[in-house]
Amino acid sequence: MQLSEEVRMLRDMVDDFGQKEVMDIGYAELEPKGEFPEEFVKKISDMGLMGISFPEEYGGMGMDTMATSVVGERLAFYWPSLQLIWSANVSLAGFPIMIYGNENQKQRFLPNLASGKILGCYALTEPDAGSDAANIKTTAEIKGQRDLWVLNGTKTFITNATNASVGIVFARIAGKRKSKRRHEGITAFLLSTEEPGLKRKQNTLAYPPEKITVRKIDKWGLRCSDFCEIILEDVHIAEGNVLGEVGGGFRIAMETLNNGRINIAAQAVGIARRALHEMKEYARSRKAFDKRLMDIDEKAKKIAWLETQVEAAWLMVLRASQAKDGGGDYRVEASQAKLFASRVAKETADFFSEFAGGVGYTLEYIAERIHQDARATLIYEGTSDIQELVIAKSFRD
Ligand SMILES: Cc1cc2nc3c(=O)[nH]c(=O)nc-3n(C[C@H](O)[C@H](O)[C@H](O)COP(=O)(O)OP(=O)(O)OC[C@H]3O[C@@H](n4cnc5c(N)ncnc54)[C@H](O)[C@@H]3O)c2cc1C
Repeated sequence: MQLSEEVRMLRDMVDDFGQKEVMDIGYAELEPKGEFPEEFVKKISDMGLMGISFPEEYGGMGMDTMATSVVGERLAFYWPSLQLIWSANVSLAGFPIMIYGNENQKQRFLPNLASGKILGCYALTEPDAGSDAANIKTTAEIKGQRDLWVLNGTKTFITNATNASVGIVFARIAGKRKSKRRHEGITAFLLSTEEPGLKRKQNTLAYPPEKITVRKIDKWGLRCSDFCEIILEDVHIAEGNVLGEVGGGFRIAMETLNNGRINIAAQAVGIARRALHEMKEYARSRKAFDKRLMDIDEKAKKIAWLETQVEAAWLMVLRASQAKDGGGDYRVEASQAKLFASRVAKETADFFSEFAGGVGYTLEYIAERIHQDARATLIYEGTSDIQELVIAKSFRD
């Protein structure tokens, strides 16, 4: 598939940045520290990438899904943690505001998300509601003051939450689940540090003393991208911060995930390509029985097969991007791309980790870090089981 001149220039810009500033230190130096990479987030914001798909009138680059996928794959090749921070900002926070926000909401949040002045997050998952997102228990009700919603509940595994200034939080209008429709009453709220009347700390949703507690959860991979538990206790949200319709939140949540899956598929391809790149270097330099590993046919053939699968996965990402840019229903293409690309990434990184022998089992070499990053792509924005169910639904109905 031919990329436009504009997209190729964008890809070259990201490659230039990645090669010069990220390649040698992302995995090797920064990832083990597990700190939020503020300086790098600022750099990609200055490059315009944090608002790549937002319309230009809201400070974005106005680029399509194809361009977003190309950038997503490249960022993941250099450093998946940075890609995930970017992806959550662009696809999970920016996208629903762009599609469902009213003019005031778009003006308030999109230019700041695009410039990197603020970071966004998307809070759907709860301790008892992951794949079964319609089962969320967080409640929203209007108490006392008529123009304020009051939210109570716990969200978990929320990317970017420690540094976010705006979060799309999904809650159910209290007492609203009366019919058999499990997602009845679910509403999307814009939880913001700029909430009128509330003096929240800038650049973090943590709001002392007790209203919003954000706790970072440690994890195996993607260590510089935080994911957190958020406890909401009587948190006040102005009526003007309802995103879309009251009761229309589940559709927003699902449409956001459909779109985000293309981005995660691109991420998986980037991770797999990095595994291949490092694996080839290793195979060329490592000798056993006086032979380079690369000269053992069986090993070279396996790498050839993995590379073939990675390229097939990339074609599926481009196909899903094209389907979305074409304006039609792209759900199946997005799920197929995510399902296949994440499995290929896992298989490629798993093989690399084993292929590297003892060093592949250490924390000092890149192989196992890539493996852990690849594993996450099977889980978020819908596990592989959920992707299979989405695909199956298209031919069962
Ligand atoms: C690194 C990371 C970042 C994340 N970031 C975010 C974020 O920013 N915002 C957010 O809201 N969430 C986020 N998540 C949460 C993620 O979306 C959920 O973990 C995911 O949807 C799975 O939900 P769960 O963990 O509750 O697993 P469960 O839903 O409990 O699933 C457990 C197992 O059961 C399987 N299963 C469940 N239902 C079915 C079924 N009907 N048929 C067959 N098998 C089934 C699953 O595939 C899985 O293998 C993140 C997760 C990770 C790991």
